[in-house]
Amino acid sequence: MNKNKYQSIRKPPVWVVIIIVFFILSIVLNFAAIGSATTSLEITYDEFLKLIEGGFADSVYMDEDQIQITLKEDVTVDDISEVLSNYELSSGSNWFTSQRSYIFYTGRIEDADLVATLREYDVSFSQEIPAQASLLSTIMSWVLPIVIMYLVLFLLMRFFMRRMRGSESGGGMMGGGMMGGFGRSKAKKYDVEEKTGVSFADVAGEDEAKESLEEMVDYLKNPDRYIKIGAKQPKGALLVGAPGTGKTLLAKAVAGEAGVPFYHITGSEFVEMFVGVGASRVRDLFETAKKNTPCIIFIDEIDAIGKKRDTSFGSNDEREQTLNQLLSEMDGFETNSGIIVLAATNRPEVLDQALLRPGRFDRRIIVDKPDLAGRENILKVHGKKVLLSSDVDFHSVALTTSGASGADLANIVNEAALLAVKLRRSYVIQKDLMDSVETVFAGKEKKGRILSQKERQMVAYHEVGHALISALQKDAQPIQKITIVPHTMGALGFTMNVPEEDRYLLTKEELKAQITVLLGGRAAEIVRFGTATTGASNDIERATDMARKMVSQYGMSNRFGSMGLQKTQEQYLDGRDVSTCSEQTGAEADEEVRKLIDQCQHEAVRLLEENRSALELIAARLLEKESISGEEFMELLKGI
Ligand code: ADP
Repeated sequence: MNKNKYQSIRKPPVWVVIIIVFFILSIVLNFAAIGSATTSLEITYDEFLKLIEGGFADSVYMDEDQIQITLKEDVTVDDISEVLSNYELSSGSNWFTSQRSYIFYTGRIEDADLVATLREYDVSFSQEIPAQASLLSTIMSWVLPIVIMYLVLFLLMRFFMRRMRGSESGGGMMGGGMMGGFGRSKAKKYDVEEKTGVSFADVAGEDEAKESLEEMVDYLKNPDRYIKIGAKQPKGALLVGAPGTGKTLLAKAVAGEAGVPFYHITGSEFVEMFVGVGASRVRDLFETAKKNTPCIIFIDEIDAIGKKRDTSFGSNDEREQTLNQLLSEMDGFETNSGIIVLAATNRPEVLDQALLRPGRFDRRIIVDKPDLAGRENILKVHGKKVLLSSDVDFHSVALTTSGASGADLANIVNEAALLAVKLRRSYVIQKDLMDSVETVFAGKEKKGRILSQKERQMVAYHEVGHALISALQKDAQPIQKITIVPHTMGALGFTMNVPEEDRYLLTKEELKAQITVLLGGRAAEIVRFGTATTGASNDIERATDMARKMVSQYGMSNRFGSMGLQKTQEQYLDGRDVSTCSEQTGAEADEEVRKLIDQCQHEAVRLLEENRSALELIAARLLEKESISGEEFMELLKGI
């Protein structure tokens, strides 16, 4: 894969210029300072009087203990050398500052006649220090504060920028430097892949999405066909789907198939603390893309900048500016200019309407979680990258991974390969794959956690409770494995059910059967120990959730019939349920949920009591072996 970072030719950053200017300035000032060195020379009071009486003095400054003389301008060193014969005075004055080279001063002595003497020789006197305004001090007093201010500003900017970028690699100054350069720093922000090396064959499942995108590939390859007939290509498409379903992969595949460069940036990378940075990054990205057509621009997580704009409190100026810029860039390039903008999101409902109108992201391509066949294909695509034994059956792995995304499946294959290496095998076997399904969903086995004898017993009965209820009901799913080995994601044991096929519709009876299975663990605790443990909390949460959906969304309660009481938001993420009914109806719905759960709980207890001997036998075997397979479980059950 030919991957390199795009870099534009940049002006030298402002901070470099500042340092150079500062450097030159300090040299000049130094030079000036050397030239303007003024020596203060203490003379005796007697000599001081002689200077006055000789008519050399122009003015005198007196403070409490010192007298300072300024000589007349035309007085040279030669003129006063006789009076000050005790001192070695160098001749010449300072060319740079036009100052005299010497300041003479003497100690103050009680001399009542001094003022009269000064008057007599027409020497002005004061108690104020004569201004020593030199060019040097002028420069220093003006320039130094500015330089210091600039330096402080620069350091502060750098500090903030570092903080904003956090642990981002590359560190140092961002590409463009400070102030005017912020926006230009972007260039480093997006990746360019000249050739992504990904093709549609690398994306398994997702056939519908691929179909929609194939048209774009064809357009990028043969634009003339479209232009000739006067057809306008969509400028952008929005890939919508849960995380890890292969949106980025699909976008790369479009670029790979068409053989065009792929510009990739994440929505959140546009937005910085400073207003205007994101907008200039967008501008820069499109400018570069326009110079390199045909190409694909891919904006991941576009919801980070594309959220609905509103003027309510808390609106984000920077984000809105960035979005506006994106909108205008999308309008700005010609329809058939060879740029296709793809964006990905898992929250399409929060996007600003302006983004979705024709001429922008007017196509919406759903990238769903894969179905059974899709999962099997994805496993096969990733399976090609590792050495496999002949016993590997991806179909059964696909069956155990209902709800998994493409990324999860890729991870499962990789975990299996890691496991095979750990066990010093040179290829992956089916067991590695099944174990890695567990690792991905339940975490690794935590052998170090020692449970007390009593706790192990409770966990064993709890798990067998689930498994038995599952096996005893006709609408429940078959068992794959039961274990009481603790796992890192918190489970002290688990029962794995495997559906025989992917299900898209579930009946009321099947849902009730699932709730009963979930409550089977608690039921076993009650039946065997006459008490309840904390181990059932996750079961209870899931059972309640399911029961609530039956009542509030699926219209499966007698009381409310087909009335909807809540709706789901963010369906591509976890799916938050939001109530749409009044508080009173909500309370009544709670009561219905409770009844449903009670009913299932009683059913579970009844089934276990009826099959007490099976519960005891299988729990004893589980305690002895720690893990038993679905087949072994069924054999034990049949043997009773
Ligand atoms: P998204 O952008 O939707 O969050 P990605 O495209 O980044 O997901 O997918 C992450 C990884 O998961 C990919 O690099 C790939 O290895 C794997 N993957 C996801 N979906 C598929 C698929 N349909 N076929 C093959 N691999 C997939």
